[in-house]
Amino acid sequence: MIRFENVSKLYGGGTKAVNELNLQIDAGEFFVLIGPSGCGKTTSLKMINRLVDLSEGTISINGKKISDYDIHELRWNIGYVLQQIALFPHLTIEENISIVPELKKWSKRKISDRVEELMHMVGLDPDKYRHRKPSELSGGQQQRVGVVRALAADPEILLMDEPFSALDPINREKLQKDIADLQRKIKKTILFVTHDIQEALELGDRLAIMNEGELVQSGTPEEIINHPVNDFVRNFVGLRASKHQFLDQLTAESLLDHTGDEVADPLPTVYSNASLEEVIPLLAAEPRAAVMKNGEVIGTITRKSVFQYIANRTVRERERG
Ligand code: ADP
Repeated sequence: MIRFENVSKLYGGGTKAVNELNLQIDAGEFFVLIGPSGCGKTTSLKMINRLVDLSEGTISINGKKISDYDIHELRWNIGYVLQQIALFPHLTIEENISIVPELKKWSKRKISDRVEELMHMVGLDPDKYRHRKPSELSGGQQQRVGVVRALAADPEILLMDEPFSALDPINREKLQKDIADLQRKIKKTILFVTHDIQEALELGDRLAIMNEGELVQSGTPEEIINHPVNDFVRNFVGLRASKHQFLDQLTAESLLDHTGDEVADPLPTVYSNASLEEVIPLLAAEPRAAVMKNGEVIGTITRKSVFQYIANRTVRERERG
């Protein structure tokens, strides 16, 4: 468990980056720190592993102040993943992953087994990749190595600072899914920094929203979406979250084409309760599909009807604010 008590950080130039922060991150929790650029997220993260000294207050891990830990013990037991893929270019993938286990003087055998286990865990075939250099991997693969390197010596805590923001959207989505799956298996205490509300809502058990160095609200994604404490939070999550929600709730039945065209040719079919996620690939392949309910065709959906519906709803959502 990580606890911030009245933590403030004043940088040399006079910037108060963090102001009286109080937070508790429970063991095994996936906790997301989110807020606009410059609000103090990275500073808060770096104070935990003492890459930045705090000015006031205390941070404790499992009831012990971070200043009372030996600095090496502290850092080795906290995995750290950065936005920029920070692998050592001249070391192989295996050597990159082995750094902390070697510092901890694990046996060669144990390290080699651990590298293999971790590479499998994120879908990288060890036989194929362990002896490669980082430059021989794609950006997404390198970031996977960055994640498992942080996990190598089995730390209790994982700090992740915008780990996926340098990736293209497809790789970002893949890694988001992977880290969510991984967390279900490994149950670390994860503190994840992002400025992307969608990412925060999808990954976090709880989130803390910061603004100008202060905590504005913390809670589960549902609590924050349903009960924003002020306009800042409402604006930050509101519009985007409500759009996301309505898209999630759409079914084929709500997207029916009402232009009254007859169904002539045999069409691919889709159930009335199919989600947008199921409807879109179908309509990417076929211009029209029949919608089935209780064994009967109740109408058709077309590319146009789907776009029309989303466009109308989006305008309405925006007007409602
Ligand atoms: P975020 O991660 O939310 O973008 P940061 O924690 O990086 O925010 O920065 C918070 C504030 O502290 C910003 O105003 C930033 O300019 C300032 N800051 C960050 N690092 C330093 C530093 N080393 N020296 C002086 N000011 C800094």
